[in-house]
Amino acid sequence: MADCRMYIDGKWIGAKTSFETINPTTEKVLARFPKGNEKDVDRAVKAAQKAFKKWSKTPPPIRGQILFRVAELLRKNKKRLGRIVATEMGKVLPEALGDVQEAIDTFEYFGAEGRRLFGNTTTSELKDKFAMTIRRPVGVCGLVSPWNFPVAIPAWKLAPALICGNTVVFKPSSDTPLCAHELVKILIEAGVPPSVVNFVTGSASDVGQAIVTHPEVECLSFTGSKDTGEWIVANAGLKKVGMELGGKNPIIVMDDADLELAVEGILWGAFGTTGQRCTACSRAIVHRKIKDRLLNALVEKAKKLRTGNPILKTTDVGPLINENAVEKVERYVEIGKDEDGAKLLCGGEKPKGTGYFYRPTIFDDVEPDMRIAREEIFGPVLSVLEFERLDKAIEIANNIEYGLSSSIYTKNVNNAFKAIEGIDAGLTYINSSTIGSEVHLPFGGVKKTGHTKEAGIMGLDEFSNVKTVYFDYSGKLQKAQIDD
Ligand code: NAP
Ligand code: MG
Repeated sequence: MADCRMYIDGKWIGAKTSFETINPTTEKVLARFPKGNEKDVDRAVKAAQKAFKKWSKTPPPIRGQILFRVAELLRKNKKRLGRIVATEMGKVLPEALGDVQEAIDTFEYFGAEGRRLFGNTTTSELKDKFAMTIRRPVGVCGLVSPWNFPVAIPAWKLAPALICGNTVVFKPSSDTPLCAHELVKILIEAGVPPSVVNFVTGSASDVGQAIVTHPEVECLSFTGSKDTGEWIVANAGLKKVGMELGGKNPIIVMDDADLELAVEGILWGAFGTTGQRCTACSRAIVHRKIKDRLLNALVEKAKKLRTGNPILKTTDVGPLINENAVEKVERYVEIGKDEDGAKLLCGGEKPKGTGYFYRPTIFDDVEPDMRIAREEIFGPVLSVLEFERLDKAIEIANNIEYGLSSSIYTKNVNNAFKAIEGIDAGLTYINSSTIGSEVHLPFGGVKKTGHTKEAGIMGLDEFSNVKTVYFDYSGKLQKAQIDD
């Protein structure tokens, strides 16, 4: 079993106490990590502050070269890392390799930003005056990530933070510190200078909260649950804060849709990553006319999905992340059956044996106000709701506090545009599932999902401050709004 360390001020260090990361398939310990505390965070922040002076002045194309090397090393290690992701996080190997690929794409994309980082030039209302904007780094950034994309999400934060010239204190999820540890090792091997990235492992209360409340952390980038997001916003003070929170993402299926395609999209959206994606499809909102046909096909296919070891080719659905996640799913299935009175079509149980597995589960006759239609379960549970008119389907889609991803299956362009305009979400897919973002497009939500964009050009906004520059070469005092 690996005994891993934190990386603070350019050194790999331990702590007095430790915690373990568990393989969710075997329930066995995978690796041990130091249980960092407030003092470790403080040391990391001080080191990052010190490193900021030089790193923020390093020309961005040179910073970009280092990010390209990170991408190269990730590519070289892709298979190995993919297996670690599958083993520690539990997603099936093809998806785990996709997690690593997303990180490769992200480091390449933001590496190239080293030669752009564009500002705007514009006109002035006065003669002999020049106006433009430039991007400046923010300072020490605290990055706090979840476990469901254990390599990709840290990459989404690290790459833009670094290319903009910031230094970083990174706390990974305590469920997937090993994936994060391997990524940090690659950053160092690629030539990220000492103390530019600091890696502190440990609990939310000891490490996470210390980062959030540290007065010298200027910028926070958080991905995780809504409750944690609310705590962070209430306690971060006047830091620049980025939030990517939960979702309850709908797929609307019209009566004119290609049903086979819709079934495939719903299966992939609901049960891919065992439903543990912020963009997972947890609600299918289906036109009454085609609901029976769609459900027959969907349930038949869902029943055939094989749970098991995510490394094996024969597995379709890996385990949930931990025991708590299984308990949460069980609780919601009971709520669906008892309190809500929805109809359980398949799943609703754990398979026998070791591991945090749960069978793909589908509820029919779900009403918009039921808890299983509104609350994020974060497991392989799909609620099916019915509609007759598109405006009603959109109303149902919007009847949640989140607004991350959404989708409509239709062959009618007018329906598609009505959905694009009507659904309150950061992403809308037409004739495709709710999942599958590309790194050069902005990603993020609305409403209680948070309002930040990660990835794409807009991903730079979270990690840079825009400075407006006025350059007056008239040689006299000119007054905007006042001089003729
Ligand atoms: P979580 O419980 O909120 O934890 C996320 C991270 O925050 C972990 O590193 C956790 O540390 C840390 N943390 C918890 N409380 C904290 C606090 N008070 N101060 C500072 N740090 C704190 O979420 P999760 O269960 O890992 O992730 C699942 C959630 O993430 C779901 O709601 C999902 O929808 C959301 N998500 C959103 C997106 C998006 O882009 N919108 C993407 C992926 C996931 P420990 O691990 O040590 O507890
Ligand atoms: Mg684990």
